[in-house]
Amino acid sequence: MIEINPDTCIGCGRCTEICPKIFKLNTDTMKAEVIEGDDLECADKAANQCPTDAITVDQTK
Ligand code: SF4
Repeated sequence: MIEINPDTCIGCGRCTEICPKIFKLNTDTMKAEVIEGDDLECADKAANQCPTDAITVDQTK
């Protein structure tokens, strides 16, 4: 399961660059959104690069 905390996401777009299949930037809210949640390995990389730790990756779900 991949989740983005909209309260802490600053819309920097880093996660969308690392995993364009998983994340997209909502240009209205300037928050990242999850568009598909299968590639947990890539999501984990993005989570590690997120400047505000807004991405949660739960490997068990
Ligand atoms: S890397 Fe983090 S702060 Fe940047 S857009 Fe993605 S979730 Fe938001």
